[in-house]
Amino acid sequence: MRWSFKIAQIAGIEIRIHVTFFLLLALVGPYGAQAGSGGTLNALVLWLLVFLCVLLHEFGHAFAAKAYGIKTADITLLPIGGVARMERMPEKPLQELVVAIAGPLVNLVIAIVLFAVLFAGGQLGDRMLSEPLETRHLLSSLLVTNVAMLFFNLIPAFPLDGGRVLRAVLATQMNYAQATQIAASIGQGLALVLGMIGLLNHEYLVLILIAVFIYMGAESESLFVQIRYATMGLPVSSAMVTRFDTLNHRATLDQAINALLGTSQHEFPVLDDNGGFAGLLTKHDLLVALRKSEPDMPVTEVMLTGLPTLLPQMSLESAFTTLRKANVSALPVVDHLGMLVGLFTTENVGELIMIQSVLGKKSHRYRS
Ligand code: ZN
Repeated sequence: MRWSFKIAQIAGIEIRIHVTFFLLLALVGPYGAQAGSGGTLNALVLWLLVFLCVLLHEFGHAFAAKAYGIKTADITLLPIGGVARMERMPEKPLQELVVAIAGPLVNLVIAIVLFAVLFAGGQLGDRMLSEPLETRHLLSSLLVTNVAMLFFNLIPAFPLDGGRVLRAVLATQMNYAQATQIAASIGQGLALVLGMIGLLNHEYLVLILIAVFIYMGAESESLFVQIRYATMGLPVSSAMVTRFDTLNHRATLDQAINALLGTSQHEFPVLDDNGGFAGLLTKHDLLVALRKSEPDMPVTEVMLTGLPTLLPQMSLESAFTTLRKANVSALPVVDHLGMLVGLFTTENVGELIMIQSVLGKKSHRYRS
């Protein structure tokens, strides 16, 4: 994250602090003034303790994620909470729910402990009463902060934990992309309400900042999922070209040129007499061959052979990886009998992502 710097490394996780985190100093400042002498010192102590609570909250997420084998790269501390950057997001709704709830749960535990200490009876209660007023004041401020953090994070809006909890719950009833869309729309609706309150009441100007943060977080989360969903959730069959011209293995370059001019295809599968896939003739190879060879040369001389084949039910993600590894613009999709059923091209995948994101944007706008 920009405008942040590393301050420590704990359990292999980089701890970073965002410059805006220092805004908290301004927020706890009045507390210091109110406490009178030594107030500034107390404010600083409170600030450090809040910092620790935010950090523990993020470690709650990180440790929950670790239980599912997900590593956390870094934790960045922001004034309205922290951000734990994980190498990947939990896929299963229950896992996401556990990881999301683990952070606020830490605040709940801290709050319960502080509450117990502050309002304890017996020996501990007597000892608390003998503590200076400042200490009790500090602990109760910390209690209030943790309760506030707990409820703030449970607001059902991305990128707050509550938004993830909401998505996880929705994802048990519908697909992940739909769940994200709905959770993001609710988040943006809430952001608009918060922003309005901030605009109408200048005492709550900080709400505008939070509203912008939530609105943008919801937007990027939903876009990210749309794109990932377009490439990952679907099988090859949903993105392959099924209507295309093929060439017989006895076809000549001349015939291939005719096919090229008659279609908008850039790649032509070459089939054997049984309809099996024999090779792929690309526009580029065809044009290069024409410059050097006679037009009656068979296409089998210039076509690409030994290409990896894809299966219709394969995931788009692994198909894309295979395509990139093969370093070609298209790959044949064959059924279990080896018969050609489709063509998988980079162009097509690009179009699919585009269509998916346009659809996502549209339904987005209708809902909000
Ligand atoms: Zn959190």
